[in-house]
Amino acid sequence: MLTRHLLKQASTCRHFLLNSKTSSPFLTKSILFTSSSSSPESQSPTNTFVDDKVKDQYPTGTSISIDRSALYNLPEHSHEPTSDSELVKHLKGIIKFRGGPISVAEYMEEVLTNPKFGFYISRDVFGAEGDFITSPEVSQMFGEMVGVWAMCLWEQMGRPKQVNLVELGPGRGTLMADLLRSASKFKSFTESLHVHMVECSPTLQKLQHHNLKCFVEDDNSDGVEKRTVSMLAGIPVSWHALLEQVPSGMPSIIIAHEFYDALPVHQFQRASRGWCEKMVDVSEDSMFRFVLSPQPTPATLYLMRRCKWAAPKEIEKLGQIEVCPKAMDLTRTIADRIRCDGGGALIIDYGLNGVVSDSLQAIRKHKFINILDNPGSADLSAYVDFASIRHSAEEVSDISVHGPMTQSQFLGALGINFRVEALLQNCTDEQADSLRTGYWRLVGEGEAPFWEGPDELVPIGMGTRYLAMAIVNKKQGVPVPFQ
Ligand code: SAH
Repeated sequence: MLTRHLLKQASTCRHFLLNSKTSSPFLTKSILFTSSSSSPESQSPTNTFVDDKVKDQYPTGTSISIDRSALYNLPEHSHEPTSDSELVKHLKGIIKFRGGPISVAEYMEEVLTNPKFGFYISRDVFGAEGDFITSPEVSQMFGEMVGVWAMCLWEQMGRPKQVNLVELGPGRGTLMADLLRSASKFKSFTESLHVHMVECSPTLQKLQHHNLKCFVEDDNSDGVEKRTVSMLAGIPVSWHALLEQVPSGMPSIIIAHEFYDALPVHQFQRASRGWCEKMVDVSEDSMFRFVLSPQPTPATLYLMRRCKWAAPKEIEKLGQIEVCPKAMDLTRTIADRIRCDGGGALIIDYGLNGVVSDSLQAIRKHKFINILDNPGSADLSAYVDFASIRHSAEEVSDISVHGPMTQSQFLGALGINFRVEALLQNCTDEQADSLRTGYWRLVGEGEAPFWEGPDELVPIGMGTRYLAMAIVNKKQGVPVPFQ
């Protein structure tokens, strides 16, 4: 009964009451309010893998120098002093030797991906014990549904014999593991695949290698590079730091889940002298602080480009704007590859289908904190501007852009309702609870209405705050389920 109630809600994409005062101890990055103080250790991870026993039911930098004298200091971002970490020393060093403040984007990039001290570089930041939780970690069904999408696209592509399946920023590798595990029954699909993981963190690369159950093939031939193969589906897997390093010349299916939100954003603020870029500086008492640039910065070119894509009315009402040049450039790289080689990309993230104003946030141990507070110890992420992705992609010929649609619509149309029902037939009580909660988190909105446990653990739906968009080669027609 409960299941049917949930299924009905998802299939009709009905919206539930959103109580913005509530919180969840497993913080997903799109929740814009502070989580409760309950200890993350007291909760068990929600992704309990359930075997697929009902087979038939599964459907087939620019450096700038700035005159400090005219900088306007934004007062609201002061914070308590702490002893400097290596990353803090590094950031202060850049600001000192550059002779002026750095952009928020440069700060964000250093904090997240500095090769020595970056937040993602040397640890596992996901799940109940980490800093935040993502959809693949919530339920196996997420990766499985993305697998359905990839397989449908492969069908629409005319079942090519060789395909690059690329994931950008795979985290723990959970999405890819669930995708491969569920797709392994469809041999003609999996036999065509070569998986490429685009990941900047050596620690996460190792974790992905482990979670994909990879081994290095024993090959006696000299001079031939040994292949790494995932035992989940007998598929070769390679790792790269950049999308550009993935071999071209064959069609690609590219997945970017919660990747774009980690790309560095520039922040602009409207001032009497026009749009000024918000910068990070060090105050006389050696604290980080925000200042406004006195004159246009190089990123202003991207701001102008972004504003041209928007209606004047949309811009007029905003006092702040975020732009993400890396997202624009990455989208162009994706679209170019798809135009040349065929295939498509799926982008799922939290964000808006329009200009983003002021969304940059820091999360540490499932709590929101000040962006300037002990950089490197917290995740930084920003809302994704899907309209900007659309416009960037549409500058490339022979591709088409679809969506965004809500995650709830996307997963519902791909059959998550059938999947949860099938899995519920063959699982323990504990797995059933985990499946129901996971299902709610993926497709629901607001607090789960069925919840009987402690208030502070109530699952909060991600179904409407996360959006899905596809970019495909026009040859393939409209991708499932965007028709
Ligand atoms: N997709 C995963 C993880 C999202 S977190 C999930 O949904 O669970 C962002 C991921 O992108 C991490 O794996 C991080 O290490 C990686 N990442 C962030 N910036 C990157 C960059 N510039 N290049 C390559 N990987 C990056």
